[in-house]
Parts: sequence; structure tokens; C-alpha cells
Amino acid sequence: MRIDIITCLPRLLDSPFSDSILKRAQEKGLVEVVIHDLRTYSMDKHRRIDDYAFGGGAGMVMMIEPIVRCFDALKLERSYDEIIYMSPDGEQFSQNMANELSLKGNLMILCGHYKGIDERVRENYITKEISIGDYVLSGGELAAAVVSDAVIRLLPGVLSDETSALTDSFQDGLVAPPVYTRPAEFNGLKVPDILLSGHEKKIEEWRFEQSVKRTEEKRPHLNKEK
Ligand code: SAH
Repeated sequence: MRIDIITCLPRLLDSPFSDSILKRAQEKGLVEVVIHDLRTYSMDKHRRIDDYAFGGGAGMVMMIEPIVRCFDALKLERSYDEIIYMSPDGEQFSQNMANELSLKGNLMILCGHYKGIDERVRENYITKEISIGDYVLSGGELAAAVVSDAVIRLLPGVLSDETSALTDSFQDGLVAPPVYTRPAEFNGLKVPDILLSGHEKKIEEWRFEQSVKRTEEKRPHLNKEK
């Protein structure tokens, strides 16, 4: 898989991809993440990528020209399955969407800033708009990192324990059961006996019951959606 992220603040994306699982996924060649500085596609010597909104009002708008120049340059190299715009009014991101995106080959993600991007980009070039929740961030970078992280960890070979992503919350319409590690007792706080019993089948059953109970408590709508 290849993910091209287009941003006017590339440094904001340095650290999310240079540690831990996402770093190793790239080192193993399972995903290529390429960050593009939108300013290098600017039309003028000041490398401007935004301008005042037609009709007035506060806030700058990202211009169509640098964005389309960047899209065109990338599309000359390869075809893209989706050209995504991160947007607070986009489709709400979910595990299902992450699963779907993880099956794609090449993704482009455009990060907005200021008041957002010229509407003509959204109408004519963007194939998918994603929101990470009903709140407003100052830019699309953190949102793009969230989406990329959720997608990349699903790619085969990225997580060392192959089954690990499948037993995460949401994959089966349930949230994950509680987990514990050593010590078995800390200041009188004990780990449930069943987990120390060595009885695999009973442990599985217990985990499933806990998942069902937690889902009912914390995400009751998951059960109703099924
Ligand atoms: N004026 C716009 C908000 C712009 S916020 C509005 O009211 O809708 C600046 C940029 O941050 C957006 O262009 C988008 O790329 C990104 N962004 C903000 N909140 C987001 C969210 N919840 N999900 C995804 N991207 C978001």
C-alpha cells in the first residue's frame, strides 16, 4: 500500500510515522507513506497556498491551483483508489471504513487548514471525505495520521501477532475484554482467578462474556447495529 499525504505543514506529520508500529511497517516495505509539502506546488514566489474568501468573511481559504497541480503530478506517477479530504463534515471514520481502506492500493489524503479548501476541489477531485469526529481541529494532519494509523495496522504482517488486529474492539461488533499483566496481585488488587487457571476454553468464554457485558455498558449501539 502507498499513502500520499498532502499538507502545508509537513512537519506535523513527522513523528506519527517515525516510531513503533508505523515505522516498522514502512521499514518492512508493507506500506510507503509519502508526505508532500503543498507549498512546493504554489504558483508564486512567496509559496502562498491560501487567499481571502470570495464574498468576504474571516479566515483564509486554500486555493485550488496548488492542490490540483499536486494531484496531477501524483496521478502522472500512478493511479489512486481514493483521493481523500479530511473534513469535519465528512463521513464519520469507523473501524469498518478502516477495514475497507486497508484493502486499497494507493491512497491520497489532503489535509485542510484555515477555513478549509476551495469548494471546487471537493466537488471535482475528491472521491471521499472523512471526519474523525464532530469537533473541529485546526488542520487535517492529525486526522490524516489517525486514519493512516488505523489502516496501516490492519495490513497483513504489520502486527507481529497475526490475530491481534482481529481481536481488537469493533472487529466483531464488540469492544475488547479487560486485560491484565504481572504482578498477579498489587497492593491487594487481584487479577481474576480464571485468567491464572490455564484453562484456555474457559478463558475464551470469560473473555467473550466480558466483551458482551462491556459492549452493553459502553457501546450499546454496537449490538443494535448488528
Ligand atoms: N471552517 C471549517 C473547519 C476548518 S478546520 C468548518 O467549519 O467546517 C481546518 C481543517 O482541519 C479542515 O479543512 C480539515 O482538513 C481539518 N479538520 C478539522 N476538523 C476535522 C475533523 N473533525 N475531521 C477531519 N478533519 C478535520
